[in-house]
Amino acid sequence: MTDRSIIIIGAGLAGLSTGCYAQMNGYRSHIFEHHSKPGGVAAAWTRKDFLIDGGIHFLMGHRPGQSIYDLYRELGTALEGCCTDMTTFGRLIDEVGGMDLHVTHDLDRLADDLKAIAPDDTKLIDDLIATARAMQGATASWSSGMAKTPELMNPLDYLNMFWANVREVGIWRTYKAFLGSYSRPVADYVRDVNSPLLRRVLVNLFLPEVPVWFVLMLLALLADRQIGLLAEGCPGFVRPIEERYKALGGEVTYRATVEVFLVEKHRAVGVRLADGTEHLADVVVSAADGRSTIFDMLGGRYVDKKIQERYRSWPLIRPWVMASFGVAREFPDEPHFSLIMLKEPIPLGHKVINDLYLRVFNYSTKFAPPGKTVIQASFETEWDYWENLQKDRPAYDAEKQRVAEEVLARLEAHHPGLSPLVEVSDIATPYTTWRYTLNHRGAYEGWLPTAKNITTFIPRTLPGLSNFYMAGQWVMPGGGVPPCLFSGRHVVQILCKGDKKQFVTSIA
Ligand SMILES: Cc1cc2nc3c(=O)[nH]c(=O)nc-3n(C[C@H](O)[C@H](O)[C@H](O)COP(=O)(O)OP(=O)(O)OC[C@H]3O[C@@H](n4cnc5c(N)ncnc54)[C@H](O)[C@@H]3O)c2cc1C
Repeated sequence: MTDRSIIIIGAGLAGLSTGCYAQMNGYRSHIFEHHSKPGGVAAAWTRKDFLIDGGIHFLMGHRPGQSIYDLYRELGTALEGCCTDMTTFGRLIDEVGGMDLHVTHDLDRLADDLKAIAPDDTKLIDDLIATARAMQGATASWSSGMAKTPELMNPLDYLNMFWANVREVGIWRTYKAFLGSYSRPVADYVRDVNSPLLRRVLVNLFLPEVPVWFVLMLLALLADRQIGLLAEGCPGFVRPIEERYKALGGEVTYRATVEVFLVEKHRAVGVRLADGTEHLADVVVSAADGRSTIFDMLGGRYVDKKIQERYRSWPLIRPWVMASFGVAREFPDEPHFSLIMLKEPIPLGHKVINDLYLRVFNYSTKFAPPGKTVIQASFETEWDYWENLQKDRPAYDAEKQRVAEEVLARLEAHHPGLSPLVEVSDIATPYTTWRYTLNHRGAYEGWLPTAKNITTFIPRTLPGLSNFYMAGQWVMPGGGVPPCLFSGRHVVQILCKGDKKQFVTSIA
């Protein structure tokens, strides 16, 4: 069977990827997207002369040698020239403890710096760094493990993956990563750490819930120069994928919100949009928010115990406030990312904000006019607080204004004289994330990547419903650019298998 039609919900990275692979394999696809442009949470917007990038911080696998790189190429992204190597993962500034640590790609330097702040943890640091070093290169075989959907993998595929890992990382470190101490959540692992400063470093390198191996993998990728910064921001990454999709013959309609999936005899047959129009297809793929897909648009009719349990108890990524400023000055020596642990927390609702994650867009001229820079401070926050507040627009706006002032006051300690140079302020709340992407409770990366969830396989299909598939961050726990792009590929691989076709790819 060839030339079957597919409707895809969502022109985020997963939806665009599904569309591209569908077109490469002879399907006729049409994407319906709620927003007025592609990218989903990989979003950017302009304020006066400044480009505010509210998405992707860094891209993994931007250099040849990884199957992630092949994936980017198949999808039409030209990374040469628009992706620069990241040499510093970030700077950790502890205003109370007085620590100022640069986490660089040089693992020897990192080991020395960590030992300097935590001399009682030398043995532990040596083993962490040795494991990160052992993982260098191994990340290539891990990423190739994602190229094929788990639905189509056989025991031999898993055995090959396991052996590749053992060969590259060693049996002892493989054991530690899968079953031993490095499989524990970082927050749990740091109980064995003596130094409070080292504990703070490890917990803040990524999220405290991820397993230790995940953080070590990031360090390995950094050391391998396999983490890049998008010099043109999210638009420079998303636009070529959308162009590739259209060049392959795909259709996309923006400002088109799907409200209901049309189902006949437990077979998906199309969608009804908010404007009342109905659109039919042989196959329907949702690359949109998982909860609204399953429980609203399908009425919760196609679930099993596992799905119910997941949506009842799995934690979501904690949503963010992003305070961005267009500033009339340059920051030539500032690392692109810093975590500032505040001496004076910011009160917000019933909580306080203890940490600011500062992003400085000083690595490209695309974000601001000459001599100026966009800086952005983000922090975790509560969905309910902002969702309630937005019902009273003046109060919501006033709180955004107050947050901007509080954030600037804290940044003044590091960059005196900053406030008068601010030309543009932009505050995006979790409610903003929901409004533009419909992700449940502003969860911009879907599920929280806990040590358990991150390795849990979520099927791309729903029980009892045929001709229906899911792609994107709600079936790839923890989200992220490569997993979401791969998930679109996975759906088309399953379709091809069902249609007895050879899955093919092509490079633009
Ligand atoms: C600030 C930030 C930083 C990040 N940093 C990184 C990073 O450094 N590295 C990394 O790998 N990843 C990062 N990510 C994560 C990564 O960008 C996401 O996991 C990924 O882009 C999600 O893609 P998606 O297509 O699955 O979902 P989404 O982007 O949410 O796309 C879903 C699309 O579906 C549309 N939609 C929803 N409901 C409907 C409906 N009913 N009808 C029509 N359309 C609908 C939405 O409008 C949206 O466009 C970051 C994300 C954010 C927000």
